[in-house]
Amino acid sequence: ARKRDGKNGAQVFDEAMLDQTRERAEIENDIDLAITASWFEAHLQPIVDITTGQPSGFEALMRMRHPRKGLMSPASIIGVAEENGTIGQIGNLILEDAVANLARVSRLPGMRDTYVAVNFSPLQFDHALPTRLSGILGRYGILPSRLVVEITEAVLMHDNPDIRTILNEIHEFGCRIALDDFGTGYSSLSYLSRFPVDIVKIDQSFIRSLGEPASEIGRKNTMLIEGIRAISHQMNCKVVAEGVETAEQRSLLMQMGVDYAQGYYFSKPREISELLSVLSVEMTDIASLAG
Ligand code: C2E
Ligand code: MG
Ligand code: MG
Ligand code: MG
Repeated sequence: ARKRDGKNGAQVFDEAMLDQTRERAEIENDIDLAITASWFEAHLQPIVDITTGQPSGFEALMRMRHPRKGLMSPASIIGVAEENGTIGQIGNLILEDAVANLARVSRLPGMRDTYVAVNFSPLQFDHALPTRLSGILGRYGILPSRLVVEITEAVLMHDNPDIRTILNEIHEFGCRIALDDFGTGYSSLSYLSRFPVDIVKIDQSFIRSLGEPASEIGRKNTMLIEGIRAISHQMNCKVVAEGVETAEQRSLLMQMGVDYAQGYYFSKPREISELLSVLSVEMTDIASLAG
């Protein structure tokens, strides 16, 4: 509670600011340590064929393995890294680990053609990126078509001609481009015609209310998913549903003609050793091993 008369209110405010500044400094410090000590890891979450449940690929999700604080999620880290310019280095480390992990998964039966989808921040789109991608893929013997570059509207929003050139170059090289969190923020349909998009990922906020036919929002979100699905297919894009958590959501999305699904119903993101052992178990549908 904030006090009206002078001093106390100001003091509470100062302390909150100081806490924020301290927290931020601590994250910046952790990031520097993590870069030198190799605490960054790309965990992988399967993206499955919605009808068979078989992994078509894996999304690489950044984790920081802090020796004292444990496994840290990207939410607190990415924003700070974008502001202080360390996102470039972190992005390179994650990209490298993601491709290395895909190479290991590839040796398992049935996994030879799977892909890895890596998230990119706007700041990572410099002119050296296409060369960097081809260098890493070459070193691990992974075909360009097996790397999916995930971007959000934040990358496309300013219609920076450089970003368009770089994306086109990456696409011509053979990597695929996925538009992440589609339908939220400022995402615009015109991105689908202006940029070389191959995959549309429908944001999890649309999926959450599926299977609640009694709710107004559930009905409306169903219509929005159907619309996004139809437009994406007309633009020759494959469609992934994010955040699928129940069997019912999966079957509804399947009936709507969505191609792929990702979410806790199938699997959480896993560190590589755990993923390898789960995938080694023979299975028909990865959902039977959810967790
Ligand atoms: P995103 O790219 O949309 O990734 C999907 C997020 O949803 C991940 O959160 C994932 O763990 C979570 N998720 C997956 N299935 C489910 C589900 O069934 N239910 C729910 N509630 N959530 C689910 P995570 O790993 O915390 O990542 C958050 C965001 O951080 C990502 O959203 C992405 O925007 C960003 N991010 C992650 N890794 C990287 C990276 O290496 N580089 C950059 N630039 N951003 C990253
Ligand atoms: Mg993503
Ligand atoms: Mg997403
Ligand atoms: Mg997201």
